[in-house]
Amino acid sequence: MTTRAGELTEYRRKRDFTRTSEPAGGGRKKSPKLAYVIQKHAASRLHFDLRLELDGVMKSWAVPKGPSLDPSVKRLAIHVEDHPIEYNAFEGTIPEDEYGGGTVMVWDTGSYTSAGGEDDPEEALRQGYRKGDFKFVLRGKRLKGSWVLVRTRGWGGRKEQWLLIKHRDDEADASSDPVAEHPTSAKSGRTMEEIADGRPPKRSRKRGPKR
Ligand code: MN
Repeated sequence: MTTRAGELTEYRRKRDFTRTSEPAGGGRKKSPKLAYVIQKHAASRLHFDLRLELDGVMKSWAVPKGPSLDPSVKRLAIHVEDHPIEYNAFEGTIPEDEYGGGTVMVWDTGSYTSAGGEDDPEEALRQGYRKGDFKFVLRGKRLKGSWVLVRTRGWGGRKEQWLLIKHRDDEADASSDPVAEHPTSAKSGRTMEEIADGRPPKRSRKRGPKR
């Protein structure tokens, strides 16, 4: 599996790591699976950052309204700079006067795979990404199943516009709203306010009476 370092130049140029607790990147990949994360980010405008690992970095899109499970809904996804894989674990607060200042929550986390059963799934993903027709299958705690990101405007520029669309499968559900149904962190169980206040992660407790 390739672990070739991607382009983190823009990511690093935008941030002052003496001021933000975001990771600078450059660490080693831990899991053989391709990582997936969505972070809820209360910056100047609330949005959801979808990140999918490819070629050693997290390809990233800012989705203002977050994901929809309704296959008839197309959600705008603005392509943003590659992020380091270590970013997937980042949950906390970026200082207000820094780039992306605001609270970040790990809203969903897991892995993802190529949509087809190709001989070389990573190459299929790479080609789909380049073509602007990026099909993938999520294996997250909250989001699963088949999705596509379709590029609609711009290529290689700063603000490529893509659309995030749920494919029709068993995980599609026009009647549910995952963004509203999951107000807490998939990592720590905290709300945005609790993360902003620096409250400790919630311990997962077993149900039922104490013995
Ligand atoms: Mn963001």
